[in-house]
Amino acid sequence: MRALMQERQLLISTLIEHAALNHPLTEIVSRNCDGETVRLNYSQLRSRAAKIAKALIALGIEGGDRVATLAWNTHRHMELYFGVSGMGAVLHTVNPRLFPDQIEYIINHAEDRVLFFDTTFAELVARLRPKLKFTTTLVVMTDRAHMPAGLEDCLCYEDLVAEQDDELDWPQFEETRASSLCYTSGTTGNPKGVLYSHRSTVLHSFTACASDGLKVSSRDCILLAVPLFHVNAWGIPYTSAMCGAKLVLPGPWLDGKSLFELAAAEGCTMSLGVPTVWLGFLKYLDDHPELDLSRLRFDRIVIGGSAAPRAIIERLHEKLGAYTIQAWGMSETSPLGTIGNLLPQHDGLTLDEQFALRAKQGRVIYGVEVRITDDNNRPLPRDGKTSGDLKVRGPWVAAAYFKGEGGDVLDDEGWFATGDVASIDQQGFVQITDRSKDVIKSGGEWISSIDLENAAVAHPAVQEAAVIGLPHPKWQERPLLLVVAKPGAAVDGADILAFLADRVARWWLPDDVVFVEELPHTATGKLQKNRLREQFKDFTFKH
Ligand code: ADP
Repeated sequence: MRALMQERQLLISTLIEHAALNHPLTEIVSRNCDGETVRLNYSQLRSRAAKIAKALIALGIEGGDRVATLAWNTHRHMELYFGVSGMGAVLHTVNPRLFPDQIEYIINHAEDRVLFFDTTFAELVARLRPKLKFTTTLVVMTDRAHMPAGLEDCLCYEDLVAEQDDELDWPQFEETRASSLCYTSGTTGNPKGVLYSHRSTVLHSFTACASDGLKVSSRDCILLAVPLFHVNAWGIPYTSAMCGAKLVLPGPWLDGKSLFELAAAEGCTMSLGVPTVWLGFLKYLDDHPELDLSRLRFDRIVIGGSAAPRAIIERLHEKLGAYTIQAWGMSETSPLGTIGNLLPQHDGLTLDEQFALRAKQGRVIYGVEVRITDDNNRPLPRDGKTSGDLKVRGPWVAAAYFKGEGGDVLDDEGWFATGDVASIDQQGFVQITDRSKDVIKSGGEWISSIDLENAAVAHPAVQEAAVIGLPHPKWQERPLLLVVAKPGAAVDGADILAFLADRVARWWLPDDVVFVEELPHTATGKLQKNRLREQFKDFTFKH
């Protein structure tokens, strides 16, 4: 029997319409590429999104066409989030931190018809332009006065907006239509496209608003320190519109000073970013003891993208009284997979015990199912100890990559293999031990490189650490610890090993410690361990 309920489609346009109607005066504060701060509200954002949608229709863009952006966290980029998807096209947010030939590859692979870009990327676009096969329209995201030299034949964003009015009934279509496209940075092989739908995006936003999710509400003022080109900024533009949260967009500036100033000036209650952003932020606070930290109102800080070391969680608590919510996910999971909120039975735990739980990757909340399996895809127990391959499924998890790249990615029961190794406990807390390719196999047992790195960065002289497994004649593999020391710190390998000896099992202790100037990162801030393994492939342990 078919139900008798309305089948209103879950479309991204309904989010911005809702915000404009019910939170018209709530602000979006944007620091643009030229350093100017622009204040808009949801009513104005909706109006400008509608105008840009109409401009795209006038340019001949149709439903399903891909429209690319190379842009920072600004109000114009937000307008494209709603304008492009709202009119039925697909917003392809390109990560500008990728190598230029990767950018060329993905823009051509996506067959992007239009490319919107910030003035910062004028040179990059000038170089890419002759190689783009499908991109016939280039739009500079600025006003006439700031159009870069040499790109006079490109369209100007503010001209497009000025030419249109905002009267628009957003087109209606099925919620399963593609709305946006993000390529995973792919540490091996070519990047692969994850194609989100209107439905997956709206369902994902409900989770971000949920109390056991990220608790985003109209009371929040969110400092968005995760880029709009990184998995849709973890869905926050949509989530904010759904609940009418105030948004603060830092433009290209994610350094500690800029984030501090914006958060203090706007009264931000919440922020989100990868661990390196928070390391930079904490370093800025340490280097400037004169700062008045009472100007910061952070109630919670969401960290994801890489493991949040316990040391960061503790310091954000001590310095700011902020609660860190660690979240785990990936481009293929939109990205929210697990979210680190505690349960009522944890209220009685000591702070130390709570930090230990919050250093895990968080709990399953409704919408994403997780399980761990052995090499034969047999489920393993949820006992908090057994590690296995982490699999996920749910309505905002990818079913395939764009254009079928990578072939079938789901098993017979619909599970997607994340490539992460994890344990799950009875209450659904997931602990990521490693990427499967990074786990260190020593004497038939596994050593978690993430645990070792987290223990090493708790040392006061360590700025950053990476652990890789290297071949060993007796044990198969043994860990090598690479350390970037804090400037001016006097520390040697023996100090660090002594420090670790109190924190990890004896047989986990790295066989050697090497100090390096810096560590290589991917375009999304993750350690590039394949490069490190290549760099240290001829390294021999002393014993
Ligand atoms: P990329 O940024 O390289 O395109 P993703 O953003 O999809 O790729 O990265 C997803 C991966 O990042 C996960 O599979 C996991 O290995 C890692 N990751 C994300 N969040 C966490 C976390 N909180 N703790 C540990 N690892 C994490």
